[in-house]
Amino acid sequence: MWDELACPEDHGRFERSRGWLSCAQCGRGFPVIDAMPHIFPADELPCWRAAQQARLDELAIRAAEGGRDPQANRQMGRRIEEWLRPHVQIVSGTRLVELGSSGSARLEGFRCGLRYGVDPLAGALAAHGLLRAGPVRWVAGSPEYLPLASGAFDVVLLCGALEQAADPQRVLAETRRVLAPHGVVWLEVALQDPQDGIGRRATRVPAATGQLWAFTMDAVQQLFAESGLAAVQRMVTPLHHTAGTTETHGEAAGTAIQVSRRLCRLLLRSSAAAARAAAA
Ligand SMILES: [Zn+2]
Repeated sequence: MWDELACPEDHGRFERSRGWLSCAQCGRGFPVIDAMPHIFPADELPCWRAAQQARLDELAIRAAEGGRDPQANRQMGRRIEEWLRPHVQIVSGTRLVELGSSGSARLEGFRCGLRYGVDPLAGALAAHGLLRAGPVRWVAGSPEYLPLASGAFDVVLLCGALEQAADPQRVLAETRRVLAPHGVVWLEVALQDPQDGIGRRATRVPAATGQLWAFTMDAVQQLFAESGLAAVQRMVTPLHHTAGTTETHGEAAGTAIQVSRRLCRLLLRSSAAAARAAAA
């Protein structure tokens, strides 16, 4: 149990003692509370806490409105598994992790594999009874400082996680680090056009989308390429139109805007593995 975890500071492996995981390199200890490890770095990004509080508030509102649909999430997980099967073997020993999934049932849709979920809010969700019991091993941790061993995962899922991340570039660099040489990344990002530049903050529609960042296709491509990842497959589908109002930058509030959004699904490999496959 927990063999795939590692220190978020130096990626040292853990030694287990009662109720704690201790880093064999730096000696720092991390608590295991109600069977869930809580593994955060000593220094977090400055904007990180505020971003997580905003997400927790949004999830609480959604739960009060009737919550998410676990069955739809499981079905989506099953579809993702089908999409992945031609590219990676998914058997009982396959190691999968979903980042920033907020307790989603997506990984339950997979029919096998060793399934981890890393989410900064996992502890808070469990405390509010919003974390589902099931086959997923939940870890309270930050996608920017993954508490996972390097090269330990065959599949990494990022579904709507980049939009919510304090630092999307760091999340993708960490994704690349924990990916096994033959591994694949499933990345789902809501594209929002028109936007200018890389990862511009989506200050125009915060209430409607619950996102921190809005990405163009170019911005997403630049982000994963800089992290040493390459696209093997790409699917872009219309998502929906989001109506919102301008609220920030000191502009007059209340101006109605219409934003067209698309969902981009990408299957990524390490750049080296993609180049090998292309040459073969
Ligand atoms: Zn350490």
